[in-house]
Amino acid sequence: MDNGFEWKDLGDIEEGRPTLGPWTNVTAYRLLYMTLRHELNSRLGKETSKEIFVAAGKLAGKEIFQNLIGDVANLTDLMTKIANLFDDLKVSIFKVEKADEKKMEFMLTISEDLDCSGVPEDGETKCAWDEGLIAGILSGFFKVATTAREIDCWATGAGICRFEVKTG
Ligand SMILES: [Zn+2]
Repeated sequence: MDNGFEWKDLGDIEEGRPTLGPWTNVTAYRLLYMTLRHELNSRLGKETSKEIFVAAGKLAGKEIFQNLIGDVANLTDLMTKIANLFDDLKVSIFKVEKADEKKMEFMLTISEDLDCSGVPEDGETKCAWDEGLIAGILSGFFKVATTAREIDCWATGAGICRFEVKTG
């Protein structure tokens, strides 16, 4: 299926930004993310908007698994590679709280993340894109459908984002 997005669409950043380089500021990132979410929420409703962010995150996770994670020996190796990648990209600090490989159930956390750390608390989880991202990466590894649900978020007062992940 042509998903309309390919890794090469990201372009040659070195060539395109010889002076400024690959890094930006979290404020610039959040302006894009939050104004886009605002427009999607107000035009399509929160539920559809969330579905779009989850779907986009899944696509990103699938592409990240294929293009940045590479060969993975086992689940522990995968989790280490995700943690290192998120650290390298300055996305967030990724940790595994619980992993039950038999039941295929996981509790994963991210802190100091791009999307919500430090935002005003309003009791609603904010990281739908990250739900998709985590599900997309794990789906790439397990080769089965995976869902991630954010049960704690900075915006709910938890100070950290916690994701309940299930497969199948
Ligand atoms: Zn969050």
